[in-house]
Amino acid sequence: MHTSADLPLTEAEIQGIRQDFPILQQQVHGHPLVYLDSGATSQRPLAVLDAERAFASTLNAAVHRGAHTLAAEATVLFEDARAALAGFIGAEEDEVVWTSNATEAVNLVAYAISNASMGRGGEAAAGLRIGPGDEIVTTEMEHHANLVPWQELAARTGATLRVIPLDDDGALRLDAAAELIGPRTRLVAVTHVSNVLGVINPVAEVIALARAAGALVLLDACQSAPHLPLDVKALDVDFAVLSGHKMLGPTGIGALYGRRDLLEIMPPFLTGGSMITTVTTTGAEYLPPPQRFEAGTQRVSQAVALAEAVRYLENVGMPRIAAHEAELGARLVAGLGAIDGVRVLGGGIDLPRVGLASVDVAGIHAHDVGQFLDDAGIAVRVGHHCAQPLHRRLGVTASTRASTYLYTTRDEVDAVIDGVARTIDFFRRA
Ligand code: PLP
Repeated sequence: MHTSADLPLTEAEIQGIRQDFPILQQQVHGHPLVYLDSGATSQRPLAVLDAERAFASTLNAAVHRGAHTLAAEATVLFEDARAALAGFIGAEEDEVVWTSNATEAVNLVAYAISNASMGRGGEAAAGLRIGPGDEIVTTEMEHHANLVPWQELAARTGATLRVIPLDDDGALRLDAAAELIGPRTRLVAVTHVSNVLGVINPVAEVIALARAAGALVLLDACQSAPHLPLDVKALDVDFAVLSGHKMLGPTGIGALYGRRDLLEIMPPFLTGGSMITTVTTTGAEYLPPPQRFEAGTQRVSQAVALAEAVRYLENVGMPRIAAHEAELGARLVAGLGAIDGVRVLGGGIDLPRVGLASVDVAGIHAHDVGQFLDDAGIAVRVGHHCAQPLHRRLGVTASTRASTYLYTTRDEVDAVIDGVARTIDFFRRA
């Protein structure tokens, strides 16, 4: 049963939200833009654009080191932004590390572990060391950002990477997860929401398996943080990664959530300025987290703008955004799946969803589908969406993905369903 706090957005509310997004007001090829590529990158409301511009035009300064007023005020805003993001995901302020995107956040953890494994960080970091005989577990549905860094970590340390397989529908095989995750497992890296299937994975079960095995858990929250209420403490994960540009924020900023006691013992990934206490020509002492992991001049205007994005999302209400996405996701899967010749990847999985679906259209290459839709002003994503193992498992090389957000209308979902049907008619007649 819905309460007013988790009802899907009304048409009037969506139209009101759309007024905040100038980019959505344009025409493409003579048609109103139908932007269905928010899974790749979301659009930014005026409040976010204005926050970045206001910062750049009044306060622009490097943070933490300056003695002057602008630097001091910029530092306050930068740290306030950290607190805003921490609050949004249920973390403490000093458990949020700014990165340039989610990919860098995963690499930060992977490199910290391999640095610890080489003895960096001393005895304090000994608990993080991995080597031959140890196992890292991930899944067959991961974005390459949550797969390749673990392949590299395994190669650097001699540990073994094991992969939780999918069933024929594309769902995570929890039975296999229960067999794979065991006493040798040191870390489990799993995506909360698949960027190809749109399903919300049963991560609580995977996390419980990891906990029982004494393994660390890294959650890829790239496709969940923008669309669902997220509480890293309630989920009981050790690390979570996200990208600002997928949640109404700018590009060039992402974040790592790390449990405080873990961040405290982790050796750094990138080294240089801004993350040290003392440096001699032969060595350096590092600041405590989160600064230890924020080497070099920071992306301050992006952090300030991302905090504004978080406020925008909170103002609409994450439970309502999740309800809106669930409705649009169900509409996409049902509408696309009803078209003759269309296979919705993962369409048979009985799990809750966000507003994202990928299709294979029999006999028509995804790039042709994307091109045909673009001619009608409909922006979708085509290709393997950085998830080649998942596509291979489902027997396709590429797919066409439509993904929604809080500014997406039901009519836009219907437009892409209709567009795919017209694509098939066109190519069958050609
Ligand atoms: N993980 C998932 C599930 C994603 O969808 C993406 C981006 O598409 C990423 C990781 C990587 O994000 P970024 O390229 O912003 O680092």
